[in-house]
Order: sequence, then C-alpha cells, then structure tokens
Amino acid sequence: MGSISISEQQPHAVCIPYPAQGHINPMLKLAKLLHSFGFHITFVNTDFNHRRLLKSRGPKALDGLSSFRFESIPDGLPPTDVDATQDIPSLCQSTRQFCLQPFKELVSKLNCDPNVPQVSCIVSDGVMSFTIDAADELGVPVVLFWTTSACGFLGYLHYQQLVERGYTPFKDESYLSNKQYLDTKIDWIPGMKDVRIRDIPTFIRTTDPKDVMVDFILGETKRAKRANAIVLNTVDSLEQEALNAMSSLLPPPVFSIGPLQLLLKQVASHDSDSLKSLGSNLWKEDTSCLQWLDQMSANSVVYVNFGSITVMTKDQLKEFAWGLANSGQTFLWIIRPDLVAGDTAVLPPEFIDMTKERGMLTNWCPQEEVLQHPAIGGFLTHNGWNSTFESIVAGVPMICWPFFAEQQTNCRYCCTEWGIGMEIDSDVKREEIEKQVRELMEGDKGKEMRKRAQEWKKLMSDAAEPHSGSSFRNLNHLVHKVLLQSP
Ligand code: UDP
Repeated sequence: MGSISISEQQPHAVCIPYPAQGHINPMLKLAKLLHSFGFHITFVNTDFNHRRLLKSRGPKALDGLSSFRFESIPDGLPPTDVDATQDIPSLCQSTRQFCLQPFKELVSKLNCDPNVPQVSCIVSDGVMSFTIDAADELGVPVVLFWTTSACGFLGYLHYQQLVERGYTPFKDESYLSNKQYLDTKIDWIPGMKDVRIRDIPTFIRTTDPKDVMVDFILGETKRAKRANAIVLNTVDSLEQEALNAMSSLLPPPVFSIGPLQLLLKQVASHDSDSLKSLGSNLWKEDTSCLQWLDQMSANSVVYVNFGSITVMTKDQLKEFAWGLANSGQTFLWIIRPDLVAGDTAVLPPEFIDMTKERGMLTNWCPQEEVLQHPAIGGFLTHNGWNSTFESIVAGVPMICWPFFAEQQTNCRYCCTEWGIGMEIDSDVKREEIEKQVRELMEGDKGKEMRKRAQEWKKLMSDAAEPHSGSSFRNLNHLVHKVLLQSP
C-alpha cells in the first residue's frame, strides 16, 4: 500500500492499547497497518492480558516476527489467575498511576537493544495518555488512538463543560433513574444534534463530586490536546459533523482511518501468514458457529452478543432468552462466561429444549467473520464502538441495548442519525425483545434498516479504497506527516 523511503533507519512504533478487548483489537489492526508501511512494531500488552492471550491463542501466539514483537508491563493491579474482564474504574486508576514508569523502562530497554531500531514514535490508546510524558522525554511524536466513535469522543470532550454547567454530579440518587430528567435536551454541543442527557457517555450519571471515571475522562481529554495527532476508527462520511466540531476544539489534527479491517485487507497480500494469523481475542474462539451459519439461508439469523464488558442480572438473561424463544427466529447467542454479574449464566432448561432446533449458544466467537456471514440478518448488540462499526461495515441492522460509557451515544446515532438501529429499554422485557426481533428480521422497519445498512456498507468500503478513499488518504497523511516526522 503506502511506500516510504526509509532513509537512515527503520522507523519503530511502540503501540500500547488500553488493556481491554475493545481497545486491543483495533490497536492490533493499526499496528499491522503501520508494519505494512515499513515500521518495526513493539506491541505492549499488560502482563495480565499477555498471559490470557497465550492461554486463549496458544503458547506461540505472541511470537510475532522479528519486526513485530510483543512486550508486556504490569497494570498495577494485584495479580490474579481469573480470566474475566477487569474492573474498569480500578483499571483506569491503576494504569494512570502505575504504568508510566514501567513503560519508560521498556522504551529505554528497547533503545539499548542493538537488534531493534531506535523508537521513533509512540501510538498510544487515547486513555493511556501517560505515554505523552514518555514521548516528550524521548523527543518523538505521539499519536493518541481513541477507540471510540467520533460522536462518543465528542461527548467526552464536553465533560468539562458538563461539570461547569452543573449537569454532573446529579443532585441526588433519584435523578439516576428519572426518565424525564434523562430526556432533557442538550442543545449547546456543536456537532451533536438533538441529544439528551441520556445520550451523553454515561459516566456523568453519578452523584459523587469526586467520581473516579469523571475525573479520569477529564484528565484524559485534557491531555489529548498535547498529542501530535488523534486517530479514530471511523469514516469521514459517517461522522462528518462530529469530526468537524472536534477539529475546532482540539489543537492536534484528527484522522479518521476506519474501517481498519478494510484497510488491512488492501495490504493483506503483502503480509506474511504469521502476521495475518496474529489475533487478539482474550477468550478462546468457537469457530464451529461459522459452519453452523453455513447451513442457514441468507439474512435468516439474528446474532446476539454483548461484547467483553457488559454484565447483566440473571433475570435480564432470562428475559432475553424468552424474548428470543418467543420471537420464533433462528439465533446465534454468545454468552460470555462472566456475562451474569457475580454468577454463572444458567438458562432455563425449557428454553434450551424449545430452541435447540433453531438456536446456537456458545461462549465467544470470531465476531467480524460472523457479522460478515451472509446468514446474519440482524445484530442484538450493546453498541460498543467496535461491534457497532463492525456491524455497519457488514451492512447489518441492529437492535440496541447499550450498557455504559459511549455505547448510549452510539445507540442514539444508530437509531436517529444513521437509520440502522432500534433501541430497547434498559429494563429489558421479553415481550419487547420478541416484538423487536420479529420487526428486525421480518418487518417493514427491519427491511428499511437493512437497506440503509447496505448503503452505509458501501460508503465504508469506499473510504478504504486505495488512493480515492478518505481513510486511505488520512492514513497516508498520518504516517508521512506525523509518524515519520520529528515533533
Ligand atoms: N468480540 C469477538 N467475539 C465475541 C465478542 C466480541 O471477537 O464473541 C470482539 C468484537 O468483534 C469487538 C470486541 O470484541 O472487536 C468488542 O469490542 P466492543 O467495542 O464492541 O465492546 P466492549 O467489549 O469494549 O464492550
């Protein structure tokens, strides 16, 4: 794809994701893309995730290539052998407080190694912004990759104003569940039309003036202004207004370089098999669902998956189960082992009995391949940005059950801006699931959404076209104008 003249020495990018699934996946894709531009890559996981990746993908999974190496640093939390999603507020506090020192030590070690080129840039997750201090010390450019949508990131960028205008903290606990209050319009955020308090990333829903997550977002968005560039896995045509609004708020240039998976396809033919097969799933994938899907007709299966962090109660799990059963539709439902908070996910035996002919259940799947499968007709999702964007890229309409963070913002955009989603109430009821799943798979609204989703799919693939595509061009600019420059 991009050709560079590597004058004296090979450029070396240190890529460091935030240690959660939805951050590691897109960062690995970006790292592979940079490798195709001729960069030596050091990919930095936490010790905790490094161990999990070796377990889920096999002992050789992180051997990489001589020019694509994996390293790990501690996350600062007490060591554990439990293979479950870590507590996000604790992880945010811990990475912010404890990761800078081991990160700097790692970079020094790399710079003393005669077998690797000198570190020439840092590509860091947007919420691992301590890396800016390391980059400053080294005198190399640092790019922050926010793995959110542009609309979600724009919401976070307004946290300071939301505090100043008295939106957060909420006055008392009753406001947290006051639907009328959450419906209050916010009309002063440029680039976000008709949003309500409920559409803003959810960490503002707190009564604590010292809330850990609000404080974390305030710190990370402030530091974002010091980066040499900001990168988003999105497409200009999908989020133009939010992107324009953001550019006037941020000194660093913002590059939308999605869909990363389609840009990667453009370079795949140049990649070695060992690079292609490098994956990042923290859970072991069950690929047999793909063969199961092969037997189904086009657009006939509803795919249900709530990502890596969402948790629900036993009762909510039951409501989803009976809603799916009563809809009469064929489904593939991924139930992560730690999906039910503090318990194991147990489904009623009557449900299993009733749906065994038309339902497949498993723990974890290769989601992008599943969404691309012609049998998939709709996606019941929690609206994490990766899942949402993977669905848009595949042209699959959604039923949205956002859990937290900017998932509520993504849901709003799916339902009102992009015309490809229907929201279900957070207090999920089987009757509503049944009705919405039927509508999605068989109703007029479902048909209309599928048509819109196909139109977006085309625009997403246009963005990744060599030379003419906006993301293709943005990626080239990022590489040549930022990453290969001295700051
Ligand atoms: N994923 C997957 N298999 C699964 C569930 C999730 O491969 O069974 C991947 C999915 O494709 C996405 C990521 O895990 O890339 C989840 O990220 P997202 O932002 O959607 O949600 P999060 O897990 O951060 O809530």
